[in-house]
Amino acid sequence: MTRGARLVVLGKQGAGKGTQCVRLSHYLAVPHISTGDMLRAAVKAGTEFGQLAKAYMDRGELIPDDVVMGIVEERIAEPDASRGFLLDGFPRTTVQAKALDEMVRPNSLDLVLDLDVPTELVLKRLSSRRVCSTCGANYSLESPPKLNWTCDLCGGEVVQRRDDTETAIRRRLDLYEESTAPLLEFYSERNLLAVVNGVGTPDEVMDRLVKVVEMARDRKK
Ligand code: ADP
Ligand code: ZN
Repeated sequence: MTRGARLVVLGKQGAGKGTQCVRLSHYLAVPHISTGDMLRAAVKAGTEFGQLAKAYMDRGELIPDDVVMGIVEERIAEPDASRGFLLDGFPRTTVQAKALDEMVRPNSLDLVLDLDVPTELVLKRLSSRRVCSTCGANYSLESPPKLNWTCDLCGGEVVQRRDDTETAIRRRLDLYEESTAPLLEFYSERNLLAVVNGVGTPDEVMDRLVKVVEMARDRKK
């Protein structure tokens, strides 16, 4: 992993992928590419595509594979991703994973991290999750509690995500089991998978991630 790093972060909704990817992308000096963030930006911009995407997202359904694959292919072709990237929220299906293999050719992925958190805990985290509607920063009603409704980073309004309702959360977790969980085996068979315990404070989890990344680096040397 010396010549840049091509990483994928897997994990259930609410596992903490967003929070950890922001940190890890600084650590690795590669861009954090979140399909959820890109799709929410399109929704906010009110483009025709954004309106289409919104209908899926509000219900907790997945956007069709070919659409998301097109977005990611374009994004990772940008100059800032030439040395690597940290993918968050993609791939989510086996079709997407196979497409990603093609996209990175002649290179290959360096490591796939699975941020592992029990379902009871992600349910709790998702129902107390709040996000900045301007910059996307994540907050929680618990630990540490967010008591006012403006963003500490940018002053934007802090709201509940439209897909963090009970029905949409349940649907997304079902889809995770059905479509995304099989990717653990897909990557494990390719010797790329590292499972990291996602329970703990953000700092504790980050320490674990860095250790695993460094171990993978040493192995490649
Ligand atoms: P979460 O992981 O909590 O569902 P994300 O921000 O990663 O949140 O994604 C939000 C929504 O965006 C998903 O529910 C889905 O509708 C859409 N989406 C994001 N990434 C993908 C993807 N790779 N394939 C299909 N749909 C996606
Ligand atoms: Zn903000």
